[in-house]
Amino acid sequence: MFVDSHCHLDRLSDKTHGGDLNATLDAARAAEVSQFLAIAVTLEDVPNLARIARDHHDVVISAGLHPLHSAEHEPSIDAIMKTADQYSAVAIGESGLDYHYRESVPADVQYERFKRHLIAARELELPIVVHTREAKEDTLKLLREHADPQVGGVLHCFSEDMDMAREAIRLGFYISLSGIVTFRNADSLRELARKLPLDRLLIETDSPYLAPVPYRGKPNEPAWVVEVAECIAKERGISVDEVAMQTTANFYRLFRAAAPEAPAHVREGLAQAGLV
Ligand SMILES: [Zn+2]
Ligand SMILES: [Zn+2]
Repeated sequence: MFVDSHCHLDRLSDKTHGGDLNATLDAARAAEVSQFLAIAVTLEDVPNLARIARDHHDVVISAGLHPLHSAEHEPSIDAIMKTADQYSAVAIGESGLDYHYRESVPADVQYERFKRHLIAARELELPIVVHTREAKEDTLKLLREHADPQVGGVLHCFSEDMDMAREAIRLGFYISLSGIVTFRNADSLRELARKLPLDRLLIETDSPYLAPVPYRGKPNEPAWVVEVAECIAKERGISVDEVAMQTTANFYRLFRAAAPEAPAHVREGLAQAGLV
């Protein structure tokens, strides 16, 4: 049982199973991926994501505006909360700071936008899905000031340093590893995969982006979250099953609103392993 904790199901490439979402999800299910968190890039995408979740019992969704998406008008705290509430989002995001690409959305705009998402998440007591790149100080500052450590969230597709990961964990956050961990030049991420506490790790694809080895260059798909789990298992010298169980338990611990939707066999498996 694996969970893809971060995929963009509304943006999958038409090269992925001929653009057929059912076939793409079926391929993932056949690989024992039993839950998908479909992540919003804009608030306007949320109704469509909600439709996907309605059609697929194993899909839950988030609501938010990506830091690099240039928006005509910035969503208010109220608008973020209303959308999340109306469409039963289990998380806020993705939101955050990406100073690597700050020419598309200036840093100060990203900063204010992230702050509003954090406040909305705190008000709704929903975890936040954070995108962070080359913005360590500001990201941690905003998490310290505005995130509720009891609710927390996840630093998704994490590619920053150990220091930042440990501080985020201290603030109640989880660290999610993507296919990047399998890349040849990702030694520092594999070190994270070995050293971070297993009960704080999540796995994701961020599909259709960032396909793992051996699928690099292809549009990514949720089935390949298994490669991420296998890489972590190899680094830690433990079984893939253990990584799968633990990251699945972590997922439902963090995204509490998704827990009642967990498939019965997953709930039983976790209970047997003493993880719930
Ligand atoms: Zn992201
Ligand atoms: Zn994403």
